[in-house]
Parts: sequence; C-alpha cells; structure tokens
Amino acid sequence: MKAAKSPAISHLELREGIIRTCVEINRIGLNQGTSGNVSHRTEDGILITPTSLPYDMMKPEDIVDLSWDASYEGRHRPSSEWRFHRDIQKNRPDINVVLHTHSIYCTTLAVHEKPINSFHYMVAVAGGIDIRCAPYACFGTQELSDHALEALEDRTACLLGHHGLIVLADTFEKAIWRAVEVETLAKMYVHALAIGEPPALSRAEMERVIEQMRLMSYGQMPDVSGVTDTPRLKGEKGTSAKAAGKASGKAKSVNAKAAAKTAKSATKSAAAPKAAVTKAEKKSAPKAAAKAAKSAGRSRKGS
Ligand SMILES: [Zn+2]
Repeated sequence: MKAAKSPAISHLELREGIIRTCVEINRIGLNQGTSGNVSHRTEDGILITPTSLPYDMMKPEDIVDLSWDASYEGRHRPSSEWRFHRDIQKNRPDINVVLHTHSIYCTTLAVHEKPINSFHYMVAVAGGIDIRCAPYACFGTQELSDHALEALEDRTACLLGHHGLIVLADTFEKAIWRAVEVETLAKMYVHALAIGEPPALSRAEMERVIEQMRLMSYGQMPDVSGVTDTPRLKGEKGTSAKAAGKASGKAKSVNAKAAAKTAKSATKSAAAPKAAVTKAEKKSAPKAAAKAAKSAGRSRKGS
C-alpha cells in the first residue's frame, strides 16, 4: 500500500460519480447487491469501487485509488475485479469508464455462453456487428481479464460467460445508458429465442447501421442510403434539389437565411438553447429566427 499523498482526497468528483453510478444501476434494476463494480481512469491508474461495501454506505473516501502497478491507496481493498478494470483501462485509451454488472438478461445469455448477434440493429451500440461473450474464467483472475479484453476488441460491451456484462464508455452517464441498451437487447433476445432463433441482419446491413450511428454521434442526420431529404430546421437549406427548392421558396417569404444561421447556432449550443434565442433577439433577426432557435431547444429537450 502506498503512503497517503495528502489529507485531501484526490478526484472528488470522479469518486462521487462512481458512487452515483453504483446507486443508479441498483435503483434501475441493472444490478443487485454489491456484485457490480465501476472504475474511472486517472492520470496514472484508476479509481475503483471497494470490495463488498453496500453502495448506499459508500463515501468518496471509500473509493480506491489503484495505480497501473496494482499498488493502491484507500481504507478498503479494491473490487475483486480490479484486474480486468485495470487491464481494460490500460489497453483502451479511448474510454474512461468501465462498468460491470450481473444484470439479469445479459447474464441469462452469458450462462448459455451465447453472444448477442445481429438479431436487432441496436447491437451496434456496442460498436460492432455483435456483442461477444467471453469464455468462462474464474472471477478475479488474469484469465478472465484476458478473455474480457479479447471479447471487447473494437467493442464497448461484452458478456462474460457464466458471469455478467461489461460496458465501456467515456462518461458515467454513457456507461449507464449503454448498459441499459445492452440489457434491453438481451431481454428482447431472450424473448425472441422463446419462439426460435431469430434471423440475423447481414454484415453489410450492420455496417450500414454502424455508419448511421457514427454520423449521428457527430450530430448529423444519418443518411447513407443516397436519399438526401433529411429533416432540418425550418428555413435551413436542404441538400437535395427538391429540398433546396423548397427552402429557397421559403427564403423569399420569411428571410430564411437569417433564420437558418441562427438555427444552426442553436444546434451547436445544444446545452444552451436560451442563449441562442437571446443572440437571435440581440441581432434583431426576424421573428422566424427566434422561433427556429426556440424550436431547436424544444426538440433537444424532447430527445
Ligand atoms: Zn462480476
């Protein structure tokens, strides 16, 4: 064990985030008891949940600060699954959070050593054409960690044979979101299997879905099928000849150019739709502009 750096605990917000995540996965039924564990990357290792401590009793100082070399600071031992948390975080610089649970439906498939194939397009939320199931290995072992790392190659989720689920994400919120999505898929798959093995979508179709999702993550309306009349804010220019014609028709009547500009800035400042409205008002843009910005704010809240 390392000597304490200072009386003040480091990374308070991350420690609180870990506790919040643990409490939330139990609240929404993604985990039971203390079988789940969560880690977040630091500069020289990870912060991780302690072993066997009820989440509602957990304080920031209970979170364990574990270095890459497995030395740690804290008043508890790290989770028994510290090894795969450390190895994944070390080998996957693209993510910050590792979340592990024994959620019921994912584990139901995992006890059958059954991966989630492309029976549904949403399996792409884990980054690929399927969600693999790692072969069984005893909990806490290097073997389990090696299997998990392999099953997670080019993926942000995998099942662990006869065990549970791992999801990866860049934030706590995304990790919970992804775990809910994967658990929902597992639930659907279990129900679908009751009727028989459902047909799977082709690799080509799944690659198209992955591309659609990639475009969406960059804030674009997905459209990789060659049809270009995608939804857009009132007054904003469309990309197809037909849509462009319509947009220019509106431009004459409501000064759509200014509206589109303001609406675009509203799209960019997703977290602050009010600011976009204020900006529009300050610029004395037409009423249509403020209306477009407002509707951008509304649609975002709804999404
Ligand atoms: Zn476990």
